[in-house]
Amino acid sequence: MKRVFIHTFGCQMNVNDTMRMSEALASMKYSPTPVAENADLIILNTCSIREKAEDKMLSALGRYRQVKLQRGALIGVGGCVAQQEKNRILEKVPYVDFVFGPDAIQKLPEILQRVEADRVRVVETAWVDSESYVFPRADPSTSRGKATEFVTVMKGCDNVCSFCVVPHTRGREVSRPFTDVLTEVASLTTVGVREVTLVGQNVNSYLGGISFAQLLLRTAEVPGIERVRFTTSHPHDLSDELVEAFRLQPKIMGHFHLPVQSGSDQVLVRMRRDYTVVEYLERLAKLRAARPTIAVTTDIIVGFPGETDEDFEKTYALTEQVRYAGQFSFVYSPRPKTGAAMREAEWGSVPHEVKVARLEKLNALQKRISSELNAQQVGKTVQVLVEGSSRTDATRRFGRTEHNTTVNFDGDAPIGALVQVQLASSSAASLSGKQVSIESMPSVLIPEVAAVPEVCLT
Ligand code: SF4
Repeated sequence: MKRVFIHTFGCQMNVNDTMRMSEALASMKYSPTPVAENADLIILNTCSIREKAEDKMLSALGRYRQVKLQRGALIGVGGCVAQQEKNRILEKVPYVDFVFGPDAIQKLPEILQRVEADRVRVVETAWVDSESYVFPRADPSTSRGKATEFVTVMKGCDNVCSFCVVPHTRGREVSRPFTDVLTEVASLTTVGVREVTLVGQNVNSYLGGISFAQLLLRTAEVPGIERVRFTTSHPHDLSDELVEAFRLQPKIMGHFHLPVQSGSDQVLVRMRRDYTVVEYLERLAKLRAARPTIAVTTDIIVGFPGETDEDFEKTYALTEQVRYAGQFSFVYSPRPKTGAAMREAEWGSVPHEVKVARLEKLNALQKRISSELNAQQVGKTVQVLVEGSSRTDATRRFGRTEHNTTVNFDGDAPIGALVQVQLASSSAASLSGKQVSIESMPSVLIPEVAAVPEVCLT
């Protein structure tokens, strides 16, 4: 058996792709290792959403060069940077053996055979036509040991947000037939999975034979599934039907990630986001009417070209008004071939120090709001799905609330149990408490030592 180490950068789509890579490589007798120095094959599953992610990839490649020199390990680069920058990677990093795009994951065995047999550098970044694209079917055995799992429902994006590289790296939207999604969800329950997160770049424009709202409702009805989540969504596709699904089905967890990106209409127009702040708030109001306790999180870009102090203050005020449970905020960085990168000179760059100061101010606000929202939970008893031992204290248990908030607690329930936890303290990032009862046990006993492929997130 040979060993593969996969270093995953970026989002949950990439985490999911890493799982599919591990499965494809199992047919070549590669098993996952969490230690790069032990690997015969190192793959970097890259992200190009921000410039920093690319820099991190290059610095990781520098570190893995030693493993190549010492063990002769093969090195491959996959994911979004590979799709967009294949020539630059091959030129800049002569010890990379192969480069493959997101559509070529299933071709990994074939790519490796060519690299090993012919000793050539291989590039495989062709798009698969939407009509012929086949989603890799997950092997449920690789999810053994997990109470919660991702399920891909679509790939690509048909929007043209001017800052975003995804349409260039992941191609057009393709939805996975709903029957395939439901079959995969059912197969995951046989190894103990009780919660699934349906993932795609813009899941609420799903067109796999039924609407996304119907897909959520059908997923919640799969025997053995207790919780359903999804990510990520574009506000203009947040339909009334989806809002209604939150009213109808309590197994759809009360957390909605709804990226707003900016609180200024002028900036939203330049971003090509296709909604105004008022429209965004109207959709949010409907959602909160359907599920009053819902936790809303968001993405915000600070320092987009042309963003004035006044524009930024509107984003700041919106954060205060919505009281997000959390947000992923980043300073704008131009990405290749995007509309914003091409028009930055015309719209006006925001100086780096201004961007950083705005980001720090926004992060401080969000930290205060998250702390306040979590503090309001203290004293309450909430449902938690047990995912394993606490990462900060192995004698404690770890899981998440319906709002997707991390909870560390004293208790003894096994992975996959749904427990009631009384909350005693909080921080901006997590909650802490003690187990007071076990609501339901998993139908499959899940081993404590996870047997899933190791993922190294950066
Ligand atoms: S909706 Fe916009 S930000 Fe999201 S993936 Fe598509 S183009 Fe990128």
